Amino acid sequence: MDNNATTVVKQEVVDAMLPYFTEIWGNGSSKFYDLGNEAITAMTRLRESVAKNIGAARPNEIYFTGSGCEADNWALKGIAYAYASKGNHIITSKIEHHAILNACAFLEKHGFEVTYLDVDCEGRVDPAAVEAAITDKTILISIMTANNEIGTIEPIKEIAEIAKKHKVIMHTDAVQAIGHMPVDVGELGVDMLSLSAHKFHGPKGVGVLYIRNGVRIENLIHGGGQERGKRAATENLAGMAGLEKALDLAVKNLDVNIASMTEKRDRLIAGIKERIPYCRLNGPEGEERMCNNVNFSFKYIEGESILMLLNMHGIAASSGSACASGSLDPSHVLLAIGLPHEIAHGSVRLSLSEDTTDEEIDYVLETLPPIVKRLREMSPLYEEILHKEQIKA
Ligand SMILES: *Cc1c(COP(=O)(O)O)cnc(C)c1O
Repeated sequence: MDNNATTVVKQEVVDAMLPYFTEIWGNGSSKFYDLGNEAITAMTRLRESVAKNIGAARPNEIYFTGSGCEADNWALKGIAYAYASKGNHIITSKIEHHAILNACAFLEKHGFEVTYLDVDCEGRVDPAAVEAAITDKTILISIMTANNEIGTIEPIKEIAEIAKKHKVIMHTDAVQAIGHMPVDVGELGVDMLSLSAHKFHGPKGVGVLYIRNGVRIENLIHGGGQERGKRAATENLAGMAGLEKALDLAVKNLDVNIASMTEKRDRLIAGIKERIPYCRLNGPEGEERMCNNVNFSFKYIEGESILMLLNMHGIAASSGSACASGSLDPSHVLLAIGLPHEIAHGSVRLSLSEDTTDEEIDYVLETLPPIVKRLREMSPLYEEILHKEQIKA
């Protein structure tokens, strides 16, 4: 139940990776012998397939990276430094992943200005607010395709049209979107897009930054001439093969997977609402919500306590983004949609995968309500509320 944190690598993906450890293991920069050339041929095929599967016009618009975080950092810092003579202003939202927010904070220390847009109570960025924030110094807009904590799908197409109208570069972090909704860079109209293999049943440690031809970008990693001189490092061929295979499977099975996850998601949401009083679904319902994401606040108790008890029953869940767990601050996303601290603290994210079964949904619906009940019985706050209600009655 924590597939927004990471997913299992599919066996087909492992199988697609294995030859690149033991058979085709040459260095993609070694052009003068067959083993190197086999690697080059393989990479050409992988790049073409990835380009096709995200609707990129040309394979040379696909740049492999070492993670989603790297793709996001590169998009922001690379554009900031390439276009610094044009302007120093960047627009993003308050609910982005920390890869975006912390890269923005870094840029702010180096002379750039960042506007962090508010979102509405379900996590939506208003395209009109994006347009209103644009100045003649704006060089980049970065808004995520789908939010990793509360599942909100953002109006990227509309925002990209606004960016285009004002000749501002548009980046989107689509790390959570792949495998959960159609993602086509042409259809979305974005100039740059980040994705990461381990969020859609590929290996950890490999991502992609799509960069539309014509967009200038400064290097983040300097060294050799890999990735057309833009991202040094001997290519992670096995990782690239894993990403390609996982993406291909995600795209091929997208409709079936969305239908299956949506049905289970909605049964889980309805079941929790029915069984647990004083709870609140965070994020939108229906079409505007990522098909695999469920996020609830349970009043009067702590999310972390719920997670520990769920874990004792063999259920892995999260109380915000995985990176945020371990800190005591409530999730920046939950605060941005207007939740008070004490309610944000009682939040749990349950995220499904295409392999989630009906039995697993049933098990969560059986297990979670008694956990919440037990924790509330120990909560002085809850006791007070019950007492007040009794007096009213
Ligand atoms: C997981 C995630 C990232 C980071 O990707 P990594 O490959 O884990 O570095 C970035 N953005 C979003 C929305 C994510 O969910």
